[in-house]
Amino acid sequence: QRTLAGKQGVVVGTGRSGLAAARLLDVLGCRVRVADSDETVTAQRLGPLAGRVDLITGPHKPEHFRDADMVVLSPGVPVKRLASALEGVPAQNVVAELELASWFLEAPVLAVTGTNGKTTTTTLISEIFRHAGINAFTGGNIGTPLCEYLLDMEQAEVIVLEVSSFQLQNCRLFKPHVGLFLNFAANHLDYHDDMDEYLDAKLNLFARMSGDDTALLHESLRPAIEGRGFTDARVEWFGPTDRFEAPHLPGEHNRSNVEGAWQAVRRFGVTEAQAAEAIRGFRPLAHRIERVAEVRGVVYVDDSKATTLDAVLAAVRSCRKPVRLLMGGVWKGGDVAAFAREIGDTVIHIGLFGGSRDVFEPELSKAFPVTWDETLELAVLRQASMARPGETVLLSPATSSFDQYKGYGERGDDFKRVVEGLS
Ligand code: ADP
Repeated sequence: QRTLAGKQGVVVGTGRSGLAAARLLDVLGCRVRVADSDETVTAQRLGPLAGRVDLITGPHKPEHFRDADMVVLSPGVPVKRLASALEGVPAQNVVAELELASWFLEAPVLAVTGTNGKTTTTTLISEIFRHAGINAFTGGNIGTPLCEYLLDMEQAEVIVLEVSSFQLQNCRLFKPHVGLFLNFAANHLDYHDDMDEYLDAKLNLFARMSGDDTALLHESLRPAIEGRGFTDARVEWFGPTDRFEAPHLPGEHNRSNVEGAWQAVRRFGVTEAQAAEAIRGFRPLAHRIERVAEVRGVVYVDDSKATTLDAVLAAVRSCRKPVRLLMGGVWKGGDVAAFAREIGDTVIHIGLFGGSRDVFEPELSKAFPVTWDETLELAVLRQASMARPGETVLLSPATSSFDQYKGYGERGDDFKRVVEGLS
């Protein structure tokens, strides 16, 4: 597959990853076509590739792909939505951007997957390597796409990748030396047929690993996975421990993330003392159970990044009780009734905002006072007017934000803006 010269490649998506993949194919001597369903994309987007590659915009059609020797998908592109357009292309010719780049890697790879906590753990791992003086590249799903690393950056000693199930579903040869699987929960059920398919996609990370490689899996996955014969790698289970001091990473879920990170980095020669120092100083990224302010004794926490019920649960459990919970947006699936049972002793009020009221209200109002507002701002103001000192107002929406925002970052920033206005 490395002889791509003269072949026809089609890249789906003109975001940063898609353009990096297009550049890599171009460098490899491929003829390249870039397809984006967004009709507003123009050749300007292609930057230095303009004139070198063909650009097709609008709905994906079979004729855009029929002659393709290889189709490369950007990370956010669910292959199923392309199914009819890709009908004439053999499945093995459809690959993730990550897969394409992985064929040319030289350094060992540490890959992190899971439903929640990927970015936190990946970033923590990268910090630990930095402290240990090991030159690691960190990217994949976050930050720099892997194709861009190959094209533009110096060779690293270790490659740390955050990988999503979308990408894993379109990996054929990619194999990490250490694979870290953090947890598994209802997510993307709007896209994956069922939990099994979603789990299979995640387990694909380990499928081609060998006896010299290490598969690190969270102990909560054991019942679903053990005995499945999913890998030839050494399998090790991990769970939350008290080994490390992590003052800025609250909650039991973070004790799991920290332990997973440590179990991964120690395979690359990091000492426990080096890891401990990095972990002690590590601050969580914005919008992940981030304490924004305390106003008149009420603490406001931005967990806009929580787009699944499990992530919300982790956040609720790591906040000071009692909690007023703000939820709403674009629903991605999950068991609201089970969720309601889990938060019963912590949450005293649920403030819904924006979309998915029909999903949340019927179930949650059986157990909690529930209010609904058109916007996040109104929902925050409503909770602020009711909250008493000692309580926490937590934005942990359990949804993606695209009904009202460009992304979780903008949603979290909006929350912060409103909270700042309170004081
Ligand atoms: P991802 O990159 O997988 O989306 P992040 O690291 O950005 O994950 O964290 C997203 C949210 O998931 C956090 O705000 C937190 O609420 C929750 N979370 C983090 N780690 C875990 C975990 N191990 N289990 C459950 N929820 C978690």
